[in-house]
Amino acid sequence: SLKSKLTIDQLAAGILQGDRVILGQAITLIESTRAADQITGAALLERIISKTGHAIRIGITGVPGVGKSTFIEAFGKHIISQEKKLAVLTIDPSSQLTKGSILGDKTRMEELSKNPNAFIRPTASGNTLGGVAHKTREVMLLCEAAGYDVIIVETVGVGQSEVSVKNMVDFFLLLMLAGAGDELQGIKKGIMEMADGLVITKADGDNTKKATEAMAEYQHAFHLFAAAESGWTPRVLTSSAVTGEGIEETWKMILIYRDQTMASGFFDANRSQQNIAWFQEYFDQLLKDDLQKFDSLQSINKELIKSVGNRTLSSRQAALQYLAAYHEAIRNK
Ligand code: GDP
Repeated sequence: SLKSKLTIDQLAAGILQGDRVILGQAITLIESTRAADQITGAALLERIISKTGHAIRIGITGVPGVGKSTFIEAFGKHIISQEKKLAVLTIDPSSQLTKGSILGDKTRMEELSKNPNAFIRPTASGNTLGGVAHKTREVMLLCEAAGYDVIIVETVGVGQSEVSVKNMVDFFLLLMLAGAGDELQGIKKGIMEMADGLVITKADGDNTKKATEAMAEYQHAFHLFAAAESGWTPRVLTSSAVTGEGIEETWKMILIYRDQTMASGFFDANRSQQNIAWFQEYFDQLLKDDLQKFDSLQSINKELIKSVGNRTLSSRQAALQYLAAYHEAIRNK
């Protein structure tokens, strides 16, 4: 619960004025698992929803150590130098799996975090990755209402969270190391197929040649993929936090992407498609939550699992019986 209980009106007004303290409080509210907070949070979102949508939403992923926080620090400072306000939201799937955190253990983006035009916020850990992604998306909307022009959603590229992030951003950027081997980096073809841009990091010193070679290889690989719905062929760049190379170029690439896809209509169509997907995901989540509310269903579920496990009941029959039991439970409520 919040220290000072602000009304929804006060929260909404504070957010729209770009008040960082109130934005922080609103995010805490959105992230809260308390039922009362969730109702207030949902009402708050309704209040600000018409003021959202204007930001460029960028997803950034890559394995631990690829240089995400170093890149985002430099990239973020460049964005701010273009008179833009930037929010960086991080999703760390490791915190769900291990209760530890890959992203949270060290001070990250130190300079950016002190900049008044940057707002950096790790997502609260949740029980499910899907739940965390929902919250991140809502936090993104709050940040847009607070006047942030660019939202970066950062995630550790370990495979679980990329799809969720891809589904909430306009541009999906993959960071990769040269010569580490795709296998080693855990980069599956599927993740490459989601990328709108690829940046080879640490292209400096002894690494420069390898990075340039890797750039050519990946460029070639992207041309072999089937044409994307966006009509955009992903671009590959090299970057270095040491020389500053690739930072400005990455921002330019994203602006070109935005201009092209806005002109073609894909940008808006993609946002609509994302909203539809989120509606479906929210509903699936609500259904699951609702099922949990009926104690009687828990024991039926256990019985059905047993029967399917010892093959006295088909999976399909079990699912149908479970649905019938759910309907029954609602009728008897
Ligand atoms: P993250 O785990 O993906 O966030 O990676 P970090 O940003 O923490 O970087 C991991 C390590 O790589 C750190 O020791 C950085 O100093 C180093 N690093 C990051 N970017 C560069 C770069 O462009 N060049 C070089 N030489 N080192 C880098």
